[in-house]
Amino acid sequence: MGCALEVPAVAMPRVLGRVGRSGGPTLVVTAGIHGNEPAGVRAAQRVLATLRERDTPLTGELVALVGNRAGLAGGVRFVDEDLNRLWTAERLAALRRRPSARDHAEDGEQRELAAELEPLLAREGVTLLDLHSTSGDGPPFALAGDTLQNRRVARALHVPFLLGLEETVRGTLIEHVGALGHVAIVVEGGPSRDPRTVELLESALWVTLVSSGVASEGELPELELHRERLRSAAHGLPAVIEVAHRHEIAPEDERRFEMLPGLAGFARVERGALLAHSGGGRERPVHAPFGGLLLLPRYQSQGRDGFFLGTSVSRAWLALSAAVRRLHLERLLGLLPGVRVEARAGHSLTIDRRIARFFAAELFHLLGYRCREEHGRALVVSRRNERL
Ligand SMILES: [Zn+2]
Repeated sequence: MGCALEVPAVAMPRVLGRVGRSGGPTLVVTAGIHGNEPAGVRAAQRVLATLRERDTPLTGELVALVGNRAGLAGGVRFVDEDLNRLWTAERLAALRRRPSARDHAEDGEQRELAAELEPLLAREGVTLLDLHSTSGDGPPFALAGDTLQNRRVARALHVPFLLGLEETVRGTLIEHVGALGHVAIVVEGGPSRDPRTVELLESALWVTLVSSGVASEGELPELELHRERLRSAAHGLPAVIEVAHRHEIAPEDERRFEMLPGLAGFARVERGALLAHSGGGRERPVHAPFGGLLLLPRYQSQGRDGFFLGTSVSRAWLALSAAVRRLHLERLLGLLPGVRVEARAGHSLTIDRRIARFFAAELFHLLGYRCREEHGRALVVSRRNERL
């Protein structure tokens, strides 16, 4: 680990800083949700320092929060549980009911972070930018639920935008914030150990200050340099990628799973390619179930996400899906055979796949739904909270 990324052993404050004024748009930055990813903390500190030094006038407010303080102090992804898998409504409700004396490490982190977030998320016009870095090599990218408002902020970053990760991973912070109707995106800045990752995350933050409406472009003289830095780091990569597969590591294999050395994010892999061993060493080989782009290969020892596979999404699909959502064509779905609209204003649909087998998950993705559960013949999909 280069000295640029070292975080002092002294515990970080929960609130890294706030600048600007409330009453306008709000950009909430979270950094270090994973304790072994301090680059985001450094990036947020740099931006806060520059804004203060230059006394930059802002039309809204930037608030930067630290995620896993204990994890950062110990240099580990998490102490007891992954802080980026705990943001479900049930867990948050349970946390509220339970006395804090029974908290494990990440319960305590989540309790404090939720207390800071709550009044901010009650505002209108909030954008959440969650800063991360990767354990393997690879370029920067953004990921978010596929809403048109998320697309706009993610595409402003000029790095690949990953859709659909939230269908394979539950309880992320962006899922929680997105469900409240806000813009919520993750930026992965590149490898955790690379000092350039701090620079790329810093650039992502400057660009998002403008796309969130918190700063106006004219007040940030280096904005074009930040855009160019991101653009060149992601040169030649597809603009939008759909995550189509997650390799889940069994709980008993968490410490044994080993990626093949030297695989980077966005590497093209063929169907059947050897990617990892789930039993360590040469035991129990893991092969690619289909050809695609390798995403987030796990080169650290914690967590159950081995790797993901993605496929690129065409411009035509993106344009068509934006159009059908603006027309609210989802209102017609209830007329289709085998589709039952659940309560709560059509946000959730149950599909009988015996009858409705001719339309695939693709159609629901197109209309802004995400697949939630499969129970035998029934598929449950729900519509993302989208402001059109
Ligand atoms: Zn992370």
